[in-house]
Amino acid sequence: MIIVMKHGSSKKEIDHVIKMVEGQGLKATLLHGTERNVIACIGDKRHISQDFWNAMPGVEKAMPILSPYKMASREVKPTNTQVQLSPGFSMGGLKVGVIAGPCAVENKTQLFSIAKRVKEAGAVALRGGAFKPRTNPYTFQGLMEEGLEYLAEARERTGLPVVTEVLSPEHVEMIGKYADVLQIGTRNMGNFVLLKAVGEQPKPVILKRGMSATIEEWLLAAEYILSRGNTNVILCERGIRTFEDHTRFTLSLSAVPQLKQLTHLPVIVDPSHGTGKRYLVNPMSKGAIAVGADGLLIEVHIDPERSMVDGPQTITVEEFQRLMAELKPIAEAVGRQM
Ligand code: PEP
Ligand code: MN
Repeated sequence: MIIVMKHGSSKKEIDHVIKMVEGQGLKATLLHGTERNVIACIGDKRHISQDFWNAMPGVEKAMPILSPYKMASREVKPTNTQVQLSPGFSMGGLKVGVIAGPCAVENKTQLFSIAKRVKEAGAVALRGGAFKPRTNPYTFQGLMEEGLEYLAEARERTGLPVVTEVLSPEHVEMIGKYADVLQIGTRNMGNFVLLKAVGEQPKPVILKRGMSATIEEWLLAAEYILSRGNTNVILCERGIRTFEDHTRFTLSLSAVPQLKQLTHLPVIVDPSHGTGKRYLVNPMSKGAIAVGADGLLIEVHIDPERSMVDGPQTITVEEFQRLMAELKPIAEAVGRQM
């Protein structure tokens, strides 16, 4: 059930409703909207009539939520959620934002030089894996905490917020001390213990689509995070497994406008993992912005041939700079800014 508060309802009225909801043994989460505030109520409320809530001061209406994901649904919150990545940029607003950087943090020189170049090209955040979820256990697993230290130093040098993947619940707190945004990778989209852990801390979360997940399963994964109290969730389409083996995965761009209908959460696209091929990153990035993505997550390296991880899908800093210039008119054509 959601309780829609009247336009202009007071903080006292909102607090009172929340207290009453919690008094009924339900979990209440306040979702701030530009027009109206909404209180999402999770739990068994079959015994309480809607009239009970409708009669409360400041309440416009109480209504059941029909979709299985409650807090992620547009039904609950018609206005777009904006997730703040830095004082100057929120994902999900008018401005399209591109997050860029190497697949993995390899060493200081590599990271700092890439960070400087992507910042100059207009990236809104720096990405880089310190804990890498590798298919093959004998390959480079990431620099771990040392990599996080380099990421934090790259932030100091460039001013860019940093995004990095968290693989296990035990690392959430430690990674949160270094990173500005936590990434949940495709292999962990259904790791519900991890989803709960990132839901219980305040840093924004980029939730990648499970490579075999339906859109509904993906939104339910987001719901795990939202229902624990963290409403700063960004969805990232990164390609799914299909019979097609020409590309590494099949990038589902139709997921973007579909999600925009179903959810208020920002949606970004990762054309690097989504295709596995460097030359496809540019056209698929353009396609993603054209279909309404709020941003992109792109793998960039000074020397992709020498990249320790995912070289074949990584673009050069020069290619990135060119792509950023080419994206601008596309963003403007669909009513966005860059
Ligand atoms: C990544 O972005 O570094 C990554 C491992 O992506 P995915 O989880 O989508 O494979
Ligand atoms: Mn990668």
